[in-house]
Amino acid sequence: MKKTLRYNYRLNPTPEQEAKLVEFGATARGIWNLLLSENMRRYEHDKTFLFYKDMASLLKDIKTFEEFNWIKAFDSAAAQQVARDLELALKNVFTKGRLQRFPKHKISYKKKKRHNDSFRAVNNSHCIRIENGAISIPKVGKIPIILHRKLASKIKTVTIQYHHGKWGCSITQEVECKTAKQVLKTITGFDINSKQTVVGSDGFVVDNPKFLKQSKTKLNQLQRQLARRTKGSNRWQKTKQRINKLHGKISRQRLDFAHKISRQITNENDILVFEDLNVKGMQKFNGSMVADNVMGLITQLSKYKTELEGKLYHEIGRFEKSTGVCSECGQHHVLTLNDRNFTCTACETNQSRDLSAAKSIAKTGELDLIAAGIVARVPPTSQQKSAIKTKVFELSKFAVGTEKKEAA
Ligand SMILES: [Zn+2]
Repeated sequence: MKKTLRYNYRLNPTPEQEAKLVEFGATARGIWNLLLSENMRRYEHDKTFLFYKDMASLLKDIKTFEEFNWIKAFDSAAAQQVARDLELALKNVFTKGRLQRFPKHKISYKKKKRHNDSFRAVNNSHCIRIENGAISIPKVGKIPIILHRKLASKIKTVTIQYHHGKWGCSITQEVECKTAKQVLKTITGFDINSKQTVVGSDGFVVDNPKFLKQSKTKLNQLQRQLARRTKGSNRWQKTKQRINKLHGKISRQRLDFAHKISRQITNENDILVFEDLNVKGMQKFNGSMVADNVMGLITQLSKYKTELEGKLYHEIGRFEKSTGVCSECGQHHVLTLNDRNFTCTACETNQSRDLSAAKSIAKTGELDLIAAGIVARVPPTSQQKSAIKTKVFELSKFAVGTEKKEAA
């Protein structure tokens, strides 16, 4: 099985290239807005949309008019990519239901005072290459790139964007997953509490990192400073820039932290069980959790990492209760946010709230996976018995794929 992954790299364009990139970003935005307007017009008129093919030929047609000369200067494959992205966004409105909003017009640089355009180049017939520390982008040229990690495979597409004052590109590549593990030796549930501490049912604990707190204190300071300054003045601009830079730093720190944790827990476990954070986040956490979702990142990153390693990732159902469930006897308790420990009313076991929640998540996950026929419990071999309480699972034949379809 192959997976498409995105890797981000830093770019160091020359001033001429930078001007070109800004122009292309604006062009991509212009094309998006143009095609979106046309689609909205049609939809209002007779409830129809333009699909990719129609949009691509429309682009081809209007390019010949003088007023659309600006499209001509743009890479045509990148222009088609805009049409593809728009088609997907339109389709999502109807297939994904209420969660997905209708696509919006993209706002210009001047209006927002902040440049956040991007465009995506497609690697048709090997036109995008990395040679001698530079990446060749159609109609832009060879842009110096910091290749901090080797390419995993052939480049599919490259998105170039300006983010938090720095140029970067994200390269999509196809990565081969390891074959699915047949014997899975450990199952671990993870609970993420309101203090953003990750607790594993095997005793694993990681705190919300201090450096993030420090950066956030600094951010609050700067935001207060900004409020004191005259809007639009030089000093205001300066503070604004520092805030933007700090936002970039925080998001990089957060991503780095999430990558490290998810890598560690993926390496240490064969089956990872999480709660569905979408619902948990809405139900239990305060506003800061939503804005600063490190935990959501950890689950996302763990998911693809387990797939790459041929391991199992599972999210337990939305309404399964985990907090306040006794890990020994299953008795439910109602806890307030301040109860970090509790004593079971049925079996009198004193336990930590987070650890018992993690254990209950692992238990629910195990039952789910067995009930769905994805794994089966098998007796441990003599070697595995040495570790106390080792649970061993075997990947069911049904999980492999083909058999399931035949059986159905
Ligand atoms: Zn109990």
